[in-house]
Amino acid sequence: KNINDLCEKLIDVMKNKNNNVFLILSGSFNVLLSLDNSEPVAILSAGQSIGEIAIIDHQPASAFVKAAEDSQILLIEEEVIWSLIGSSHAIANNLLLILSQRLRHGNSVINKIKSLLKEYEHNATIDALTSLYNRRWLDNMLERVMQRCHKNKEVLSVMMFDIDNFKNYNDVNGHLAGDLALQTVSKTIVQYLRPEDLVTRYGGEELFALLPGIAKEDAISIAERLRQAIKNTTIEDKDGKTLPTVTISIGVAEMRDKDDSHQLIGTADKAMYKAKNSGRDKVCG
Ligand code: GH3
Ligand code: MG
Ligand code: MG
Repeated sequence: KNINDLCEKLIDVMKNKNNNVFLILSGSFNVLLSLDNSEPVAILSAGQSIGEIAIIDHQPASAFVKAAEDSQILLIEEEVIWSLIGSSHAIANNLLLILSQRLRHGNSVINKIKSLLKEYEHNATIDALTSLYNRRWLDNMLERVMQRCHKNKEVLSVMMFDIDNFKNYNDVNGHLAGDLALQTVSKTIVQYLRPEDLVTRYGGEELFALLPGIAKEDAISIAERLRQAIKNTTIEDKDGKTLPTVTISIGVAEMRDKDDSHQLIGTADKAMYKAKNSGRDKVCG
């Protein structure tokens, strides 16, 4: 009968209908938020208990508990727990203590998850090499920035940058030097533009900038000065050795009333290819 009872109880536990507390006598248990191979959020060892929250709120278990090694547990039925609580302040106090520890632990897990989430969000929108926003960010944000400018009756100019003969730069100086050149160009553009301008890595050696409040003629002058600045910026390797400088071609476009994001990017891209076709190291709009 005892074995049958125990089996029924175990079936209830498996159905998340746990009405018992398990006291760990020896060994240890992993507390998991899902049954895949995820990291345990806590490890419970001898002297600690499992299942005390479910007997209070009668809700399905909030986590999975899995033995991490050969372990022994003592099953205490709900009625026994309640009668112990009713008859002993010490046991009631102890249960409160266990519950408050669970709450604190839960909060620290939430904080850890929050900071991980922040890190993942950062990685999902920031390009690791240049620290600029990535294409995914641009795909999400360009339309929004365009709508905001529309609403505020503000002009918006964009720039498409492409490093000239960059394949050759890599071939001659090596891919690492190419990476440094790309980082230097990115940094120069960010330093040169205003904090409210948004710079993204559009593709391999193509960057894209949004300049709210700047009309095309001004954007062309800014791009022209930027083109010269990049041409005059020295690129150094990690030992301080000077590498050859690079030049860039820039296409400038201003948002027109009916433009969607693809049209705006397309116009800037076309202008950039015009700059390439007129000899590179040029600005076209
Ligand atoms: P063009 O003046 O017409 O733009 O010529 P290009 O050689 O720059 O253009 P192409 O599209 O033929 O080559 C682009 C090169 O950019 C090829 C690729 O190896 C290099 N590139 C793209 N992304 C990176 C990167 O992250 N690091 C390095 N080092 N090189 C990159
Ligand atoms: Mg290119
Ligand atoms: Mg290029």
